[in-house]
Amino acid sequence: MTAVRLGVLALQGAFREHIAMLNRLNVEAAEVRLAAQLDDLDGLIIPGGESTSMGLVAERWGLVEPLRQWVHGGRPTWGTCAGMILLAERATGQKLGGQALIGGLDVTVNRNYFGRQVDSFEAELEVPALGEVPFHAVFIRAPAITAVAEDVETLATVAAIQNDDEAVIAAVRNGPILATAFHPELTDDPRWHRFFVQMVQDYMAHST
Ligand code: GLN
Repeated sequence: MTAVRLGVLALQGAFREHIAMLNRLNVEAAEVRLAAQLDDLDGLIIPGGESTSMGLVAERWGLVEPLRQWVHGGRPTWGTCAGMILLAERATGQKLGGQALIGGLDVTVNRNYFGRQVDSFEAELEVPALGEVPFHAVFIRAPAITAVAEDVETLATVAAIQNDDEAVIAAVRNGPILATAFHPELTDDPRWHRFFVQMVQDYMAHST
């Protein structure tokens, strides 16, 4: 296995939990707070938390433009929950006026899709990309993906009361970008982290 160096954006939210999970997989992971730190990374995770706060801190610390360059440069990036909102090209139900803060992920998200009815819930998701065993997903004031561009691969859906119990999209892959509406770092199941590490390794194998 090629050694990968991952970073987790550490402005706000659940960054420590991502690092702990990666360390369990023997993957090196750094807390990222400075633009210069991006230069040393093979892949970046933008954690869950609160997308408006994370965006404001990123603006204050001069990280928005470097993060845009990173993502739009095609570098492997995984956004969970608030991180997914920041990566989405289009967002509805948000305070910042629908403007993509980082963008790059060609989807529309509804920022608090599940929030009005239930703040948090858990669900067993079928995720063929992770194997046969369902993934126990934790949703916390979670967004949902309401529209995807043609080249975006849906990896998981979840039945939503808000959608007459029909499925809405909860995880996608768009080339080097992975996005999950839920929080895999808050579970004991490392399969999403392993999946992202594999994406990063594939990217490294093809870019050298
Ligand atoms: N809905 C929240 C937001 O707008 C995200 C919640 C989360 O990351 N758990 O930022």
